[in-house]
Amino acid sequence: MAWTLSGVGIGDGLAMGKAWVLASARLDLPRRRLEPDQVEPELKRFREAVSIVNKELSGLKETMGQEASAEVSALLELQAIILRDPLLVAATEQRIQHDRCNAEWGLLQQLEAVSAQFDEIEDPYLRERKADVQQIVDRILRAMQGEVGLEEVVRKNNHEDDGGWILIAKDISPADMLILRRHRFLGFVTETGSATSHTAILARSLGLPAVVGVSGLLNQIAQNDIIVIKSKEGAVLGALNADDQSVYRGQQAVYADDLKALDDFKQLASCSLDGVSVLLMANIDLPNDVQIALDRGCDGIGLFRSEFLFMNRSSIPSEEEQFQAYSAVVKTMAGRPVTIRTLDAGADKEVSALSFGHDKPANPALASRAIRYSLQSPDLFLSQLRAMLRASAFGQVKILIPMVSGPSEMISAREMVQQAMTSLRAKGLAFNPKTSVGAMIEVPSAAIAIDGLVAHIDFASIGTNDLIQYTLAIDRTDRSVAHLYNPLHPAVLRLIDQTIRSCNRANLPVSLCGEMAGDTDLTRLLLGLGLREFSMHATEILKVKRVVRGSSVASLSRGVGRLLKLPDPALVKSGLSAMNAKALRPD
Ligand code: PEP
Ligand code: MG
Repeated sequence: MAWTLSGVGIGDGLAMGKAWVLASARLDLPRRRLEPDQVEPELKRFREAVSIVNKELSGLKETMGQEASAEVSALLELQAIILRDPLLVAATEQRIQHDRCNAEWGLLQQLEAVSAQFDEIEDPYLRERKADVQQIVDRILRAMQGEVGLEEVVRKNNHEDDGGWILIAKDISPADMLILRRHRFLGFVTETGSATSHTAILARSLGLPAVVGVSGLLNQIAQNDIIVIKSKEGAVLGALNADDQSVYRGQQAVYADDLKALDDFKQLASCSLDGVSVLLMANIDLPNDVQIALDRGCDGIGLFRSEFLFMNRSSIPSEEEQFQAYSAVVKTMAGRPVTIRTLDAGADKEVSALSFGHDKPANPALASRAIRYSLQSPDLFLSQLRAMLRASAFGQVKILIPMVSGPSEMISAREMVQQAMTSLRAKGLAFNPKTSVGAMIEVPSAAIAIDGLVAHIDFASIGTNDLIQYTLAIDRTDRSVAHLYNPLHPAVLRLIDQTIRSCNRANLPVSLCGEMAGDTDLTRLLLGLGLREFSMHATEILKVKRVVRGSSVASLSRGVGRLLKLPDPALVKSGLSAMNAKALRPD
Protein backbone atom coordinates (compact mmCIF):
# COMPACT_ATOMS: atom_id res chain seq x y z
CA MET A 1 0.00 0.00 0.00
CA ALA A 2 1.56 3.27 -1.11
CA TRP A 3 2.25 5.80 1.63
CA THR A 4 3.08 9.51 1.77
CA LEU A 5 4.87 11.41 4.50
CA SER A 6 5.05 15.15 4.60
CA GLY A 7 7.49 17.74 5.84
CA VAL A 8 9.04 21.01 4.77
CA GLY A 9 10.04 20.87 1.11
CA ILE A 10 13.20 22.58 -0.14
CA GLY A 11 13.37 23.63 -3.78
CA ASP A 12 11.04 22.37 -6.49
CA GLY A 13 12.72 19.17 -7.59
CA LEU A 14 11.57 15.62 -8.09
CA ALA A 15 13.84 12.71 -7.27
CA MET A 16 13.25 8.97 -7.31
CA GLY A 17 15.86 6.57 -5.99
CA LYS A 18 16.82 3.88 -3.55
CA ALA A 19 16.73 4.82 0.11
CA TRP A 20 20.10 4.98 1.77
CA VAL A 21 19.25 4.93 5.45
CA LEU A 22 21.99 6.47 7.53
CA ALA A 23 21.34 5.01 10.94
CA SER A 24 22.30 7.12 13.88
CA ALA A 25 25.63 6.02 15.22
CA ARG A 26 24.17 6.63 18.65
CA LEU A 27 21.93 3.55 18.56
CA ASP A 28 22.92 0.18 20.07
CA LEU A 29 26.23 1.28 21.47
CA PRO A 30 28.27 -0.79 23.90
CA ARG A 31 28.12 0.39 27.51
CA ARG A 32 30.81 -1.20 29.71
CA ARG A 33 32.66 -0.47 32.94
CA LEU A 34 36.42 -0.46 32.48
CA GLU A 35 39.00 -2.25 34.56
CA PRO A 36 41.65 0.19 35.83
CA ASP A 37 44.21 -1.04 33.30
CA GLN A 38 41.74 -0.50 30.45
CA VAL A 39 41.41 3.23 31.06
CA GLU A 40 44.56 4.36 29.25
CA PRO A 41 43.93 2.26 26.09
CA GLU A 42 40.31 3.50 26.06
CA LEU A 43 41.47 7.12 26.27
CA LYS A 44 43.85 6.45 23.40
CA ARG A 45 41.06 4.91 21.31
CA PHE A 46 38.86 7.94 21.97
CA ARG A 47 41.61 10.44 21.12
CA GLU A 48 42.37 8.61 17.90
CA ALA A 49 38.71 8.82 16.87
CA VAL A 50 38.66 12.56 17.63
CA SER A 51 41.78 13.02 15.56
CA ILE A 52 40.24 11.06 12.64
CA VAL A 53 37.21 13.36 12.71
CA ASN A 54 39.47 16.40 12.94
CA LYS A 55 41.33 15.25 9.83
CA GLU A 56 38.05 14.50 8.06
CA LEU A 57 36.76 18.00 8.69
CA SER A 58 39.94 19.79 7.69
CA GLY A 59 40.34 17.49 4.67
CA LEU A 60 36.84 18.39 3.54
CA LYS A 61 37.48 22.09 3.99
CA GLU A 62 40.62 21.89 1.91
CA THR A 63 39.26 19.78 -0.91
CA MET A 64 35.92 21.45 -1.39
CA GLY A 65 37.30 24.78 -2.69
CA GLN A 66 34.62 26.67 -4.60
CA GLU A 67 32.23 23.76 -4.26
CA ALA A 68 31.01 24.92 -0.89
CA SER A 69 28.88 27.96 -0.35
CA ALA A 70 29.69 30.40 2.42
CA GLU A 71 27.09 28.74 4.65
CA VAL A 72 28.67 25.33 4.21
CA SER A 73 32.14 26.67 5.04
CA ALA A 74 30.83 28.52 8.08
CA LEU A 75 29.05 25.45 9.42
CA LEU A 76 32.08 23.24 8.84
CA GLU A 77 34.13 25.76 10.75
CA LEU A 78 31.56 25.73 13.55
CA GLN A 79 31.78 21.94 13.78
CA ALA A 80 35.58 22.13 13.94
CA ILE A 81 35.21 24.57 16.85
CA ILE A 82 32.81 22.20 18.63
CA LEU A 83 35.34 19.41 18.22
CA ARG A 84 37.96 21.53 20.00
CA ASP A 85 35.60 22.49 22.82
CA PRO A 86 36.72 21.08 26.18
CA LEU A 87 33.06 20.65 27.13
CA LEU A 88 32.87 17.82 24.65
CA VAL A 89 36.27 16.16 24.40
CA ALA A 90 38.03 16.91 27.69
CA ALA A 91 34.84 16.31 29.67
CA THR A 92 34.36 12.92 27.99
CA GLU A 93 37.96 12.02 28.81
CA GLN A 94 37.23 12.84 32.43
CA ARG A 95 34.23 10.54 32.41
CA ILE A 96 36.36 7.73 30.98
CA GLN A 97 38.97 8.30 33.67
CA HIS A 98 36.78 8.95 36.70
CA ASP A 99 33.62 6.98 35.99
CA ARG A 100 35.55 4.25 34.17
CA CYS A 101 32.95 4.00 31.44
CA ASN A 102 33.90 3.03 27.91
CA ALA A 103 34.46 5.88 25.45
CA GLU A 104 31.12 5.57 23.59
CA TRP A 105 29.20 5.61 26.83
CA GLY A 106 31.18 8.52 28.25
CA LEU A 107 30.66 10.51 25.07
CA LEU A 108 26.92 9.83 25.06
CA GLN A 109 26.59 10.92 28.69
CA GLN A 110 28.48 14.09 27.92
CA LEU A 111 26.26 14.68 24.88
CA GLU A 112 23.20 14.41 27.13
CA ALA A 113 24.66 16.92 29.57
CA VAL A 114 25.55 19.38 26.81
CA SER A 115 22.17 18.89 25.08
CA ALA A 116 20.35 19.74 28.31
CA GLN A 117 22.28 23.03 28.43
CA PHE A 118 21.34 23.79 24.81
CA ASP A 119 17.66 23.16 25.58
CA GLU A 120 17.78 25.97 28.11
CA ILE A 121 18.93 28.52 25.53
CA GLU A 122 16.26 30.98 24.44
CA ASP A 123 17.89 32.10 21.20
CA PRO A 124 16.41 29.65 18.63
CA TYR A 125 19.46 29.88 16.35
CA LEU A 126 21.85 28.90 19.13
CA ARG A 127 19.44 26.25 20.38
CA GLU A 128 19.50 24.65 16.93
CA ARG A 129 23.28 24.31 17.18
CA LYS A 130 22.62 21.31 19.43
CA ALA A 131 22.22 19.41 16.16
CA ASP A 132 25.81 20.33 15.23
CA VAL A 133 27.09 18.87 18.49
CA GLN A 134 25.07 15.69 17.88
CA GLN A 135 26.51 15.39 14.39
CA ILE A 136 30.05 15.69 15.69
CA VAL A 137 29.33 13.06 18.32
CA ASP A 138 27.95 10.78 15.59
CA ARG A 139 31.15 11.24 13.61
CA ILE A 140 33.33 10.36 16.59
CA LEU A 141 31.19 7.30 17.31
CA ARG A 142 31.41 6.15 13.71
CA ALA A 143 35.16 6.60 13.78
CA MET A 144 35.35 4.49 16.96
CA GLN A 145 33.36 1.79 15.23
CA GLY A 146 35.82 1.77 12.36
CA GLU A 147 33.71 3.70 9.86
CA VAL A 148 35.38 6.76 8.43
CA GLY A 149 32.28 8.87 8.01
CA LEU A 150 29.72 8.95 5.25
CA GLU A 151 32.34 9.36 2.53
CA GLU A 152 33.80 5.94 3.31
CA VAL A 153 30.40 4.28 3.75
CA VAL A 154 29.38 5.60 0.38
CA ARG A 155 32.60 4.64 -1.35
CA LYS A 156 32.27 1.06 -0.13
CA ASN A 157 28.67 0.63 -1.17
CA ASN A 158 27.63 3.10 -3.80
CA HIS A 159 28.34 1.65 -7.21
CA GLU A 160 28.28 3.70 -10.35
CA ASP A 161 25.68 1.45 -11.95
CA ASP A 162 23.16 2.12 -9.19
CA GLY A 163 20.31 4.31 -10.32
CA GLY A 164 20.99 6.90 -7.64
CA TRP A 165 20.31 7.16 -3.95
CA ILE A 166 18.21 9.30 -1.70
CA LEU A 167 19.71 9.77 1.72
CA ILE A 168 17.41 9.18 4.66
CA ALA A 169 18.69 10.32 8.02
CA LYS A 170 17.74 11.80 11.30
CA ASP A 171 19.83 14.85 10.42
CA ILE A 172 22.61 15.63 7.97
CA SER A 173 25.73 17.63 8.74
CA PRO A 174 27.16 20.27 6.38
CA ALA A 175 30.12 18.04 5.67
CA ASP A 176 27.80 15.18 4.71
CA MET A 177 26.00 17.56 2.34
CA LEU A 178 29.09 17.95 0.21
CA ILE A 179 29.51 14.19 0.04
CA LEU A 180 25.92 13.85 -1.09
CA ARG A 181 26.67 15.99 -4.09
CA ARG A 182 29.82 14.14 -5.06
CA HIS A 183 28.31 10.67 -4.93
CA ARG A 184 25.26 10.65 -7.12
CA PHE A 185 22.82 11.28 -4.30
CA LEU A 186 19.72 12.72 -5.85
CA GLY A 187 18.29 14.32 -2.75
CA PHE A 188 17.67 13.72 0.91
CA VAL A 189 15.04 13.50 3.58
CA THR A 190 15.57 14.16 7.27
CA GLU A 191 13.50 13.65 10.33
CA THR A 192 14.66 16.86 12.00
CA GLY A 193 14.80 20.37 10.63
CA SER A 194 12.43 23.23 9.98
CA ALA A 195 12.37 25.82 7.19
CA THR A 196 14.98 27.88 9.03
CA SER A 197 17.21 25.01 10.17
CA HIS A 198 20.73 24.80 8.83
CA THR A 199 19.84 21.64 6.92
CA ALA A 200 17.21 23.58 4.99
CA ILE A 201 19.51 26.55 4.39
CA LEU A 202 22.23 24.27 3.04
CA ALA A 203 19.87 22.26 0.88
CA ARG A 204 18.70 25.46 -0.74
CA SER A 205 22.28 26.56 -1.39
CA LEU A 206 23.19 23.18 -2.93
CA GLY A 207 20.08 23.07 -5.08
CA LEU A 208 19.26 19.44 -4.14
CA PRO A 209 15.61 18.47 -3.78
CA ALA A 210 14.95 17.71 -0.15
CA VAL A 211 12.26 17.38 2.48
CA VAL A 212 13.15 18.08 6.11
CA GLY A 213 11.22 17.76 9.36
CA VAL A 214 9.47 14.51 8.36
CA SER A 215 8.28 12.85 11.53
CA GLY A 216 8.15 9.07 11.62
CA LEU A 217 10.63 8.86 8.73
CA LEU A 218 13.06 6.32 10.13
CA ASN A 219 10.27 3.99 11.20
CA GLN A 220 8.75 4.02 7.74
CA ILE A 221 11.71 3.54 5.40
CA ALA A 222 14.12 0.62 5.11
CA GLN A 223 17.42 0.42 3.26
CA ASN A 224 16.95 0.04 -0.52
CA ASP A 225 13.24 0.97 -0.52
CA ILE A 226 12.37 2.90 -3.67
CA ILE A 227 11.13 6.33 -2.69
CA VAL A 228 10.15 9.57 -4.39
CA ILE A 229 10.70 13.10 -3.14
CA LYS A 230 8.46 15.85 -4.46
CA SER A 231 10.12 18.76 -2.79
CA LYS A 232 7.75 21.50 -3.89
CA GLU A 233 4.90 19.76 -2.08
CA GLY A 234 7.14 18.62 0.81
CA ALA A 235 6.09 15.01 0.08
CA VAL A 236 7.95 11.70 0.41
CA LEU A 237 6.25 8.73 -1.26
CA GLY A 238 6.97 5.04 -0.86
CA ALA A 239 5.69 1.49 -1.51
CA LEU A 240 4.87 2.52 -5.06
CA ASN A 241 3.66 -0.05 -7.55
CA ALA A 242 5.43 -0.61 -10.86
CA ASP A 243 3.07 1.70 -12.75
CA ASP A 244 3.57 4.58 -10.34
CA GLN A 245 7.31 4.05 -10.42
CA SER A 246 7.38 4.30 -14.17
CA VAL A 247 5.32 7.52 -14.09
CA TYR A 248 7.75 9.07 -11.61
CA ARG A 249 10.75 7.79 -13.54
CA GLY A 250 9.38 9.63 -16.55
CA GLN A 251 8.77 12.79 -14.52
CA GLN A 252 12.26 12.60 -13.08
CA ALA A 253 13.80 12.34 -16.53
CA VAL A 254 11.79 15.36 -17.66
CA TYR A 255 12.94 17.26 -14.58
CA ALA A 256 16.62 16.37 -15.23
CA ASP A 257 16.41 17.36 -18.91
CA ASP A 258 14.72 20.52 -17.88
CA LEU A 259 17.54 21.48 -15.52
CA LYS A 260 20.08 20.88 -18.28
CA ALA A 261 18.05 22.86 -20.78
CA LEU A 262 18.07 25.83 -18.44
CA ASP A 263 21.77 26.37 -19.08
CA ASP A 264 20.88 27.49 -22.60
CA PHE A 265 19.17 30.52 -21.10
CA LYS A 266 22.34 31.88 -19.55
CA GLN A 267 23.35 33.77 -22.66
CA LEU A 268 19.85 34.91 -23.62
CA ALA A 269 18.38 38.30 -22.77
CA SER A 270 15.74 38.50 -20.10
CA CYS A 271 13.12 39.94 -22.36
CA SER A 272 9.46 39.05 -22.94
CA LEU A 273 7.92 37.99 -26.28
CA ASP A 274 6.65 41.54 -26.74
CA GLY A 275 10.04 43.10 -26.05
CA VAL A 276 9.73 44.10 -22.38
CA SER A 277 13.09 43.86 -20.54
CA VAL A 278 13.07 42.45 -17.05
CA LEU A 279 15.95 42.66 -14.57
CA LEU A 280 16.74 39.41 -12.78
CA MET A 281 18.78 40.00 -9.67
CA ALA A 282 20.15 37.67 -7.00
CA ASN A 283 19.56 37.56 -3.26
CA ILE A 284 22.74 36.75 -1.35
CA ASP A 285 23.55 36.16 2.29
CA LEU A 286 27.35 36.18 2.27
CA PRO A 287 30.02 37.41 -0.17
CA ASN A 288 30.85 33.92 -1.49
CA ASP A 289 27.31 33.56 -2.85
CA VAL A 290 28.18 36.04 -5.59
CA GLN A 291 29.93 33.41 -7.71
CA ILE A 292 26.85 31.28 -8.24
CA ALA A 293 24.78 34.43 -8.85
CA LEU A 294 27.16 35.47 -11.64
CA ASP A 295 27.21 31.97 -13.02
CA ARG A 296 23.42 32.13 -13.39
CA GLY A 297 23.75 35.41 -15.28
CA CYS A 298 22.23 37.75 -12.68
CA ASP A 299 21.88 41.43 -13.58
CA GLY A 300 23.03 42.47 -10.14
CA ILE A 301 22.47 41.84 -6.46
CA GLY A 302 18.93 42.85 -5.49
CA LEU A 303 19.30 41.94 -1.82
CA PHE A 304 22.44 41.39 0.21
CA ARG A 305 21.14 40.40 3.66
CA SER A 306 23.91 42.02 5.70
CA GLU A 307 22.73 40.50 8.99
CA PHE A 308 24.34 37.20 7.97
CA LEU A 309 27.72 38.85 8.52
CA PHE A 310 26.66 39.39 12.13
CA MET A 311 25.45 35.84 12.82
CA ASN A 312 27.26 32.83 14.19
CA ARG A 313 29.80 34.86 16.18
CA SER A 314 30.19 36.39 19.59
CA SER A 315 31.20 39.93 18.52
CA ILE A 316 29.80 42.24 15.88
CA PRO A 317 31.87 42.82 12.72
CA SER A 318 33.85 46.08 12.71
CA GLU A 319 33.39 48.79 10.07
CA GLU A 320 36.58 47.57 8.41
CA GLU A 321 35.44 43.95 8.29
CA GLN A 322 32.09 44.98 6.86
CA PHE A 323 33.80 47.23 4.33
CA GLN A 324 35.95 44.30 3.17
CA ALA A 325 32.85 42.11 2.74
CA TYR A 326 30.74 44.72 0.92
CA SER A 327 33.55 45.93 -1.31
CA ALA A 328 34.48 42.35 -2.27
CA VAL A 329 30.94 41.87 -3.58
CA VAL A 330 30.87 45.25 -5.32
CA LYS A 331 34.22 44.62 -7.04
CA THR A 332 33.20 41.14 -8.19
CA MET A 333 29.95 42.50 -9.59
CA ALA A 334 32.03 44.86 -11.75
CA GLY A 335 29.64 47.77 -12.16
CA ARG A 336 26.39 45.86 -11.78
CA PRO A 337 24.16 47.18 -8.98
CA VAL A 338 24.64 45.77 -5.49
CA THR A 339 21.76 46.44 -3.10
CA ILE A 340 22.96 46.05 0.47
CA ARG A 341 20.33 45.95 3.16
CA THR A 342 21.19 47.48 6.51
CA LEU A 343 21.01 45.18 9.50
CA ASP A 344 17.67 43.35 9.66
CA ALA A 345 18.21 41.71 13.04
CA GLY A 346 15.56 40.56 15.47
CA ALA A 347 12.63 38.10 15.45
CA ASP A 348 13.45 35.26 13.03
CA LYS A 349 16.94 36.67 12.37
CA GLU A 350 18.66 36.21 15.67
CA VAL A 351 22.02 37.89 16.10
CA SER A 352 23.27 36.73 19.46
CA ALA A 353 26.13 39.25 19.53
CA LEU A 354 23.58 42.06 19.80
CA SER A 355 21.65 42.95 22.88
CA PHE A 356 17.96 43.56 22.35
CA GLY A 357 17.39 44.90 25.85
CA HIS A 358 16.80 43.03 29.10
CA ASP A 359 13.18 42.10 28.63
CA LYS A 360 12.43 39.54 25.99
CA PRO A 361 9.67 41.06 23.87
CA ALA A 362 6.33 39.24 23.90
CA ASN A 363 6.13 39.63 20.11
CA PRO A 364 9.67 39.78 18.69
CA ALA A 365 8.36 40.27 15.14
CA LEU A 366 6.65 43.46 16.27
CA ALA A 367 9.41 44.66 18.59
CA SER A 368 12.60 46.65 18.13
CA ARG A 369 14.12 45.10 15.02
CA ALA A 370 15.60 46.10 11.67
CA ILE A 371 15.53 49.91 11.14
CA ARG A 372 13.94 50.44 14.56
CA TYR A 373 16.89 48.74 16.19
CA SER A 374 19.41 50.54 13.96
CA LEU A 375 17.97 53.95 14.83
CA GLN A 376 18.19 53.05 18.51
CA SER A 377 21.84 51.99 18.07
CA PRO A 378 23.33 54.96 16.19
CA ASP A 379 26.99 53.93 16.55
CA LEU A 380 26.30 50.51 15.10
CA PHE A 381 24.16 51.97 12.33
CA LEU A 382 26.71 54.65 11.43
CA SER A 383 29.56 52.18 11.23
CA GLN A 384 27.50 50.00 8.90
CA LEU A 385 26.53 52.96 6.71
CA ARG A 386 30.16 54.12 6.51
CA ALA A 387 31.24 50.62 5.45
CA MET A 388 28.56 50.53 2.73
CA LEU A 389 29.40 54.03 1.52
CA ARG A 390 33.11 53.22 1.34
CA ALA A 391 32.24 50.20 -0.81
CA SER A 392 30.35 52.57 -3.15
CA ALA A 393 33.73 53.90 -4.32
CA PHE A 394 34.19 50.60 -6.20
CA GLY A 395 30.93 50.27 -8.08
CA GLN A 396 27.18 50.73 -7.85
CA VAL A 397 25.97 50.41 -4.27
CA LYS A 398 22.34 50.90 -3.25
CA ILE A 399 21.49 51.10 0.44
CA LEU A 400 18.25 49.36 1.40
CA ILE A 401 16.47 50.05 4.70
CA PRO A 402 14.44 47.13 6.13
CA MET A 403 11.04 47.22 7.90
CA VAL A 404 10.27 50.84 7.09
CA SER A 405 6.75 51.65 8.30
CA GLY A 406 6.49 55.24 7.08
CA PRO A 407 8.32 58.47 6.15
CA SER A 408 9.73 59.35 9.58
CA GLU A 409 12.04 56.33 9.68
CA MET A 410 13.27 57.09 6.17
CA ILE A 411 13.92 60.71 7.09
CA SER A 412 15.93 59.62 10.15
CA ALA A 413 17.79 56.94 8.17
CA ARG A 414 18.72 59.46 5.48
CA GLU A 415 19.99 61.87 8.12
CA MET A 416 22.25 59.09 9.37
CA VAL A 417 23.48 58.48 5.82
CA GLN A 418 24.36 62.19 5.60
CA GLN A 419 26.17 61.97 8.94
CA ALA A 420 28.12 58.95 7.73
CA MET A 421 29.09 60.85 4.57
CA THR A 422 30.26 63.83 6.63
CA SER A 423 32.51 61.67 8.77
CA LEU A 424 33.98 59.93 5.71
CA ARG A 425 34.70 63.31 4.12
CA ALA A 426 36.43 64.43 7.32
CA LYS A 427 38.67 61.35 7.13
CA GLY A 428 39.30 61.81 3.42
CA LEU A 429 37.77 58.40 2.57
CA ALA A 430 36.25 57.92 -0.90
CA PHE A 431 32.57 57.18 -1.50
CA ASN A 432 29.83 57.94 -4.02
CA PRO A 433 27.81 60.91 -2.67
CA LYS A 434 24.94 59.98 -5.00
CA THR A 435 24.46 56.51 -3.48
CA SER A 436 20.74 55.68 -3.61
CA VAL A 437 18.84 54.93 -0.45
CA GLY A 438 15.65 52.88 -0.70
CA ALA A 439 13.09 51.14 1.48
CA MET A 440 11.92 47.58 1.84
CA ILE A 441 8.14 47.62 1.48
CA GLU A 442 7.29 44.78 3.82
CA VAL A 443 5.21 46.41 6.54
CA PRO A 444 1.58 46.91 5.44
CA SER A 445 1.55 50.56 6.59
CA ALA A 446 4.37 51.35 4.14
CA ALA A 447 2.47 49.72 1.28
CA ILE A 448 -0.89 51.28 2.17
CA ALA A 449 0.55 54.78 2.54
CA ILE A 450 3.17 54.34 -0.19
CA ASP A 451 2.20 57.64 -1.83
CA GLY A 452 3.54 59.53 1.18
CA LEU A 453 6.74 57.51 1.24
CA VAL A 454 7.88 57.84 -2.36
CA ALA A 455 9.19 61.37 -1.82
CA HIS A 456 11.69 60.01 0.70
CA ILE A 457 13.13 57.05 -1.18
CA ASP A 458 15.25 56.55 -4.30
CA PHE A 459 13.91 53.04 -4.90
CA ALA A 460 11.66 50.43 -3.33
CA SER A 461 12.02 46.70 -2.84
CA ILE A 462 8.92 44.72 -1.93
CA GLY A 463 9.65 42.15 0.78
CA THR A 464 6.75 39.77 0.38
CA ASN A 465 7.99 37.32 3.02
CA ASP A 466 7.24 39.83 5.73
CA LEU A 467 4.48 41.65 3.89
CA ILE A 468 2.46 38.41 3.86
CA GLN A 469 3.32 37.70 7.50
CA TYR A 470 2.15 41.11 8.70
CA THR A 471 -0.84 41.48 6.38
CA LEU A 472 -2.31 38.09 7.19
CA ALA A 473 -1.11 37.97 10.83
CA ILE A 474 0.72 34.70 10.19
CA ASP A 475 4.04 34.08 11.95
CA ARG A 476 6.26 33.04 9.04
CA THR A 477 8.28 30.71 11.27
CA ASP A 478 5.34 28.90 12.84
CA ARG A 479 4.57 25.59 11.14
CA SER A 480 1.14 25.36 12.76
CA VAL A 481 -0.12 28.30 10.68
CA ALA A 482 2.04 27.70 7.60
CA HIS A 483 -1.01 26.53 5.59
CA LEU A 484 -2.55 30.01 6.02
CA TYR A 485 0.51 31.82 4.64
CA ASN A 486 -0.82 32.68 1.21
CA PRO A 487 0.86 34.97 -1.34
CA LEU A 488 -2.32 34.91 -3.42
CA HIS A 489 -4.51 36.50 -0.77
CA PRO A 490 -6.28 39.46 -2.44
CA ALA A 491 -5.08 41.81 0.33
CA VAL A 492 -1.44 40.90 -0.39
CA LEU A 493 -1.87 41.24 -4.14
CA ARG A 494 -3.55 44.62 -3.80
CA LEU A 495 -0.69 45.92 -1.62
CA ILE A 496 1.86 44.74 -4.18
CA ASP A 497 -0.18 46.25 -7.01
CA GLN A 498 -0.55 49.56 -5.22
CA THR A 499 3.16 49.74 -4.41
CA ILE A 500 4.21 49.05 -8.00
CA ARG A 501 1.72 51.59 -9.38
CA SER A 502 2.75 54.30 -6.95
CA CYS A 503 6.44 53.80 -7.64
CA ASN A 504 5.85 53.75 -11.40
CA ARG A 505 3.88 57.00 -11.15
CA ALA A 506 6.73 58.58 -9.19
CA ASN A 507 9.28 57.20 -11.64
CA LEU A 508 10.98 55.20 -8.91
CA PRO A 509 12.63 51.82 -9.55
CA VAL A 510 10.72 49.07 -7.76
CA SER A 511 11.75 45.45 -7.34
CA LEU A 512 10.44 42.45 -5.40
CA CYS A 513 12.89 40.40 -3.33
CA GLY A 514 10.71 38.02 -1.28
CA GLU A 515 10.35 34.31 -2.11
CA MET A 516 7.50 35.17 -4.51
CA ALA A 517 10.09 36.52 -6.98
CA GLY A 518 11.61 33.08 -7.54
CA ASP A 519 8.36 31.13 -7.78
CA THR A 520 7.74 30.51 -11.47
CA ASP A 521 4.03 29.92 -10.86
CA LEU A 522 3.85 33.60 -9.90
CA THR A 523 6.14 35.13 -12.53
CA ARG A 524 3.34 35.96 -14.99
CA LEU A 525 1.20 37.38 -12.21
CA LEU A 526 4.02 39.73 -11.17
CA LEU A 527 4.79 40.70 -14.76
CA GLY A 528 1.10 41.48 -15.22
CA LEU A 529 1.21 43.66 -12.11
CA GLY A 530 3.91 45.73 -13.81
CA LEU A 531 6.97 44.35 -11.99
CA ARG A 532 10.14 44.66 -14.06
CA GLU A 533 12.78 43.81 -11.48
CA PHE A 534 12.84 40.49 -9.60
CA SER A 535 15.39 39.45 -6.99
CA MET A 536 15.67 35.80 -5.93
CA HIS A 537 17.95 32.96 -4.91
CA ALA A 538 20.48 32.44 -7.71
CA THR A 539 19.28 28.89 -8.41
CA GLU A 540 15.92 30.30 -9.54
CA ILE A 541 17.13 32.96 -11.98
CA LEU A 542 17.18 30.88 -15.15
CA LYS A 543 13.79 29.31 -14.43
CA VAL A 544 12.24 32.75 -14.09
CA LYS A 545 14.06 33.96 -17.21
CA ARG A 546 12.54 31.13 -19.20
CA VAL A 547 9.03 32.16 -18.13
CA VAL A 548 9.74 35.82 -18.91
CA ARG A 549 10.95 34.93 -22.40
CA GLY A 550 7.81 32.89 -23.04
CA SER A 551 5.38 35.59 -21.87
CA SER A 552 3.60 38.40 -23.59
CA VAL A 553 3.41 41.13 -20.97
CA ALA A 554 0.63 43.19 -22.57
CA SER A 555 -1.84 40.31 -22.47
CA LEU A 556 -0.79 39.37 -18.92
CA SER A 557 -1.65 42.87 -17.66
CA ARG A 558 -5.25 42.47 -18.83
CA GLY A 559 -5.63 39.01 -17.25
CA VAL A 560 -4.06 40.08 -13.97
CA GLY A 561 -6.43 43.06 -13.76
CA ARG A 562 -9.27 40.52 -13.62
CA LEU A 563 -7.50 38.39 -10.97
CA LEU A 564 -7.10 41.42 -8.72
CA LYS A 565 -10.86 41.82 -8.50
CA LEU A 566 -11.41 38.27 -7.18
CA PRO A 567 -12.42 38.12 -3.51
CA ASP A 568 -10.86 34.81 -2.51
CA PRO A 569 -7.31 33.30 -2.68
CA ALA A 570 -8.69 30.01 -4.03
CA LEU A 571 -10.34 31.82 -6.95
CA VAL A 572 -7.12 33.75 -7.62
CA LYS A 573 -5.22 30.47 -7.60
CA SER A 574 -7.45 28.80 -10.14
CA GLY A 575 -7.54 31.95 -12.30
CA LEU A 576 -3.75 32.09 -12.23
CA SER A 577 -3.41 28.39 -13.07
CA ALA A 578 -5.66 28.94 -16.09
CA MET A 579 -3.57 31.94 -17.12
CA ASN A 580 -0.31 29.97 -16.79
CA ALA A 581 -1.76 27.04 -18.73
CA LYS A 582 -2.99 29.35 -21.48
CA ALA A 583 0.45 30.94 -21.81
CA LEU A 584 1.95 27.49 -22.37
CA ARG A 585 -0.56 26.49 -25.09
CA PRO A 586 0.58 27.09 -28.65
CA ASP A 587 -1.87 29.48 -30.40
C1 PEP B 1 11.11 39.75 2.82
O1 PEP B 1 10.65 39.99 3.94
O2 PEP B 1 10.41 39.47 1.83
C2 PEP B 1 12.56 39.74 2.59
C3 PEP B 1 13.06 39.62 1.39
O3 PEP B 1 13.37 39.84 3.65
P1 PEP B 1 13.66 38.67 4.69
O4 PEP B 1 13.15 37.39 4.10
O5 PEP B 1 15.13 38.68 4.87
O6 PEP B 1 12.90 39.11 5.88
MG1 MG C 1 11.81 40.91 5.51
